[in-house]
Amino acid sequence: MNDDQLLRYSRHILLPEIDVEGQQGIIDSTVLIVGAGGLGSPAAMYLASAGVGTLILADGDTVDLTNLQRQILHREDQAGMLKAESGRQTLAGINPATQVEVIAQRLEGELLEEAVSRASVVLDCCDNFATRHAVNRACLRYRKPLVSGAAVRFDGQVSVYDLRYVENPCYHCLFPEGEDLAEMRCAVTGIFAPLTGVVGSLQACEALKILASCGEPLVGRLLLIDALSMNMRTVRYGRDPGCAVCGEAAAQR
Ligand SMILES: [Zn+2]
Repeated sequence: MNDDQLLRYSRHILLPEIDVEGQQGIIDSTVLIVGAGGLGSPAAMYLASAGVGTLILADGDTVDLTNLQRQILHREDQAGMLKAESGRQTLAGINPATQVEVIAQRLEGELLEEAVSRASVVLDCCDNFATRHAVNRACLRYRKPLVSGAAVRFDGQVSVYDLRYVENPCYHCLFPEGEDLAEMRCAVTGIFAPLTGVVGSLQACEALKILASCGEPLVGRLLLIDALSMNMRTVRYGRDPGCAVCGEAAAQR
């Protein structure tokens, strides 16, 4: 780290849990953010400001006026622009040292595989079950930690699936495919703006902890946030041995 970096990241380096080594881990990392919307916005901004070396920002949508209530990565004068590109511009203004790679299309197939294989940590900030399950499968295949967040109406949830270790549960263990609850889209159901900020920021917390190797990740625990009552609780869950994605039967295929 040079003098500028030591100064810029000094408030992290002052934390004994992070120190120079932890900050170096953050600087040396590549983080994939799937979705540059309500959750991806604060997550990307904190990860760039904290010095993540490379951010891969994947989103195929364009900035719409109805996004601006909560998607703080984008500004009114960027309406109509691809969100991944608008995000890159905003992040360049926050920390030009962070290389932002743009994937301006739906992340699937080869593109997904390649992006996940390069990532130190993956953040699921998307809004549909199909992508969530595809990202989970790719993270399992490449043994990557997955930080997942969701928010709808006044309800938020966060959990970490640290698939570097075989004993840890995956997203599918907790939310099996086929049992997907009716997909609730913000466009239909509404979403309380700062709740996406809370959930996305918590995802950034968990990602930085993993990169700096500090603290206890939210593994095997689902954090549930009710912004109306402002109650938060964590529910424990374990690996499902019969899981179609990470279970024993799946592993033998
Ligand atoms: Zn599983």
